[in-house]
Amino acid sequence: MDEPVSARLADVALPVPLPRALSYLVPEKLGESVTPGRRVLCTLGSRRVVGVVVGVREGEPPPAAKPLLEVLDGISLPNDLVVFLQRLASYYLAPIGEVVRLALPPADREAERAVEELTLFSNAKGIAPRKVQWVTATDAVETSLKEKASHILAFVRAHGSLPVSRLEEQFGAARATVKKLVERGLLTMSEREAQRDPFFAETIAQDSPPEPTEPQRAAMLAIERALEATVESEKESDKGPDSKRAGSTFLLHGVTGSGKTEVYLRAIATAKKLGKGTIMLVPEIALTPQLVNRFRARFGDEVAVLHSALTARERFDMWKRLSAGEVDVAIGARSALFAPIRNLGLVIVDEEHDSSFKQEEGVRYHARDMSILRAHMHGGVCVLGSATPSLETEQLARSGKAQKLALPDRARAQEMPKVSIVDLRNIGAGPTGDRKLSILLHRAIEETLAKKEQSILFLNRRGFAPSVRCESCGELSSCPQCTVALTFHKKYGRATEADEIGPNGIMRCHWCDYEAKVPPRCPKCSSDRVALEGLGTEKLEATLAEAFPTARIARLDRDVASGKDVEKILARVRSREVDILVGTQMVTKGHDLPHVTLVGVINADAALSIPDFRASERAFQLLVQVAGRAGRGDSPGRVLVQTYNPEHHAIQFAVRHDVHGFIDRELRDRRELMYPPFSRMALARIDSLDEGEAQNAAAELAKAAREVARTGELGSLDVLGPAVAPIAKVRNRFRFRVMLRSASRERLRLGALAMHGAIARLPRTVRVAIDVDPVGLL
Ligand code: ADP
Ligand code: ZN
Ligand code: ZN
Repeated sequence: MDEPVSARLADVALPVPLPRALSYLVPEKLGESVTPGRRVLCTLGSRRVVGVVVGVREGEPPPAAKPLLEVLDGISLPNDLVVFLQRLASYYLAPIGEVVRLALPPADREAERAVEELTLFSNAKGIAPRKVQWVTATDAVETSLKEKASHILAFVRAHGSLPVSRLEEQFGAARATVKKLVERGLLTMSEREAQRDPFFAETIAQDSPPEPTEPQRAAMLAIERALEATVESEKESDKGPDSKRAGSTFLLHGVTGSGKTEVYLRAIATAKKLGKGTIMLVPEIALTPQLVNRFRARFGDEVAVLHSALTARERFDMWKRLSAGEVDVAIGARSALFAPIRNLGLVIVDEEHDSSFKQEEGVRYHARDMSILRAHMHGGVCVLGSATPSLETEQLARSGKAQKLALPDRARAQEMPKVSIVDLRNIGAGPTGDRKLSILLHRAIEETLAKKEQSILFLNRRGFAPSVRCESCGELSSCPQCTVALTFHKKYGRATEADEIGPNGIMRCHWCDYEAKVPPRCPKCSSDRVALEGLGTEKLEATLAEAFPTARIARLDRDVASGKDVEKILARVRSREVDILVGTQMVTKGHDLPHVTLVGVINADAALSIPDFRASERAFQLLVQVAGRAGRGDSPGRVLVQTYNPEHHAIQFAVRHDVHGFIDRELRDRRELMYPPFSRMALARIDSLDEGEAQNAAAELAKAAREVARTGELGSLDVLGPAVAPIAKVRNRFRFRVMLRSASRERLRLGALAMHGAIARLPRTVRVAIDVDPVGLL
């Protein structure tokens, strides 16, 4: 009988949508250099590809296992990150190669795509970093300095460290003086890689933390203790591998302006003191220079800001500085979850309820949920902050899995704005004749203008956009490829008469970018009464310009602004060059605009009409967030909420700023209907160009899941569907779905795995995506 042969094997994640890592033989000559996180060159079919080692083991080689070709230099993922990525892939049933890709620096991803020959791979190494000189103040005491030298020294001390070029900007020729200061031991000089990030373009003076309020102090202390416990338990676990390293999770619930950011800053400072790194996640939209400057003012330039405006090269540099431990704080949108921070001890998620933490394509992960996992894998601390906590996080706190820290009042003793409802069923239109600008809101704007204060008008465009409808037969212009209404846009210039369709009007599909001219006659009944329906920000801006001709009006939405433009518009508002800001969701996020005293919500109902069990939660969060924009300065704020639906509990609780009341009520409803957080869901989205094929595929998946459901306890796994998706067709593909629901994570996983297994049996023209813990249900 043959002895089973044992060999050294490496499991390698490859940049292809394979569910699992592939095993390769580790040749003798590569020996110890093959470790988890290293990139290796290997053969896949007839190709040579670059993969990342996720595990090394002794075992029986699979038949036809091939040897690894090379271990590549340069980038290597830290071991703990590799373990995290594997757990994430397993939880979301995502291909490990695609998950690993999320954590690789961008230059590397390009190289990986281009690689055919090993030489091409020097691409990543070929990006030679530009070096610049930095100075740092020492603790030495100065004696008898010349005036310029003492100014320069004071400036450096105020910042901790900074590039010499910045001293030259500030003081003119400074090199000679710097050299003298270095010689006298007052400054040290070091070389660092150049920093060209626009967020770091200006010098920021160091600030000192304000005296915390009592609730802030209590929150800071609790987090500090937990961080210290992290370090303690680490010492314990040094003694024996079995000692437990539990992490802690906090829900920091603080009204807008209560000083949550101060608590984060303090927690990061504590982590730094303990030699621990921090990841801080913020919604993409909140990643503004204003926020970044607050972090720089506290921590100098030792903060990595990962944002979409960075070039691949800048991101690559940032990645290297983080993994080398030169920088121990990373701030960014959801993908910063994968930052290669050394010695991670703290993960903060600001505005944790924000749905942008859920990635809705590719690997469909939820960065908030995974941040708890990532922090705890290191025995570290996770802080989830919000003014309107998600029901998931609130339930974590209520079930004892997270500790709640409350900041009940605004930090600077401002009153919460007074919120009143405008019942559009009884209150008529103002002078513009447009019911969406009620007489009460019109007057409030007038008063605010007269006091030389600012107004924000918020228009919820989710599920609400100017569309084109025939007034004779009711036909709504829809996209021929998708089943959604087309949105009206004006092609050229500023909309001033947007209520008329005009020759330049076009209709656009927000799902597939299909564009068409507005038809002069209805395609169905030939009537010429084709008119605009609804009210977009563009139209509202035009209506306001007519009603308040001397007011300075600005608009903020995805059409006019992205990235840096958003900040430009907000800067104009802050410097009071704008009287009225009209905008979409973009205006609701954490901007601190002290001269805004009026917030008008044009259509509170739009968010409620989305076919999703989270519609009330979203509507409530949105109303509270937007209301929080009013009265952040010295004058009190007020909020008018226009609605046709004033009795709705989301609106009622929002008007009273009653977050707990809302959460109690909503949790009760969710428990009754067995929706998350009282159950977990997995959603299979199926689409195909052929309707019958898509439907059959959906039926296959449902059948696979039902087999699992039958074997367990009755009712412990619900299989809903197959059903036509709420948007039945997108880009000509017919969409179906199957929904799984269970109170047990394990049962749900078995059902999802069964569907996943069935995918292989479907025709290749069918696309299936399985979304574990889905957020957007459309
Ligand atoms: P949040 O993040 O909860 O919206 P911030 O941390 O942005 O709140 O604080 C709101 C405002 O109050 C900021 O201008 C901040 O500088 C100020 N602030 C926060 N904490 C204090 C404090 N303890 N004393 C004085 N001002 C504070
Ligand atoms: Zn018609
Ligand atoms: Zn379309």
